[in-house]
Amino acid sequence: MRLLLAEDDADIARHTIARLAAEGYAVDHAAQGPETWDLGETGDYAAIILDLGLPGMDGLSILKRWRAAGVNTPVLVLTARGSWMERVDGFEAGADDYLPKPFRSEELLARLKALLRRSAATPVATRAAGRFVIDDAAKRVTFDGRMLELSPQEYRLVSLLIRERGRVLSPLEIASHVQGRDDDTAKNAVEAMIARLRRKTDPDAIETRRGFGYCVPDTAG
Ligand code: CA
Repeated sequence: MRLLLAEDDADIARHTIARLAAEGYAVDHAAQGPETWDLGETGDYAAIILDLGLPGMDGLSILKRWRAAGVNTPVLVLTARGSWMERVDGFEAGADDYLPKPFRSEELLARLKALLRRSAATPVATRAAGRFVIDDAAKRVTFDGRMLELSPQEYRLVSLLIRERGRVLSPLEIASHVQGRDDDTAKNAVEAMIARLRRKTDPDAIETRRGFGYCVPDTAG
């Protein structure tokens, strides 16, 4: 079972990884905000342990972005001791549980196991739009029943279009979700990605509303 640990404190990270590994978990470690965001959105994790104070992009923003992008991996948030505001903000952003620092690894393990039990009881959903079907847990997309080979960014883009099916998304809006920035370079990259996706699927799979943006129609099958 693979976990993501996002923690920039080297001592806490080392100690926690050793403890989790001893329990049989495989652990990917991220110490930077942007790296955490990317791994959490594209990786296949049973759960994520997320420190809120990360360099580059704070944990709450990362969590909000994941949830907005349809990432439903259970998240255990590590907060500063006594900071009840952080806990409230964390739950509102989509955290499943929290643990105040400093924590004992036994408590981390107990909470983690409870989180994994709860998520195992939740059925995995697929979503469909147009001729696309997406399986968020497996990170797979089919088009007309055929499995697509997608890069992580292409997956993110398709996932966004399917989640927002029926709505026209501007290239800049797509760029900010898919690439985390919304400048002209990112916008051009989005346009190139749309062209690649059309080649991989069908020229009509993603509609262009000239002057506005892109859209996958809100019809299944
Ligand atoms: Ca920190």
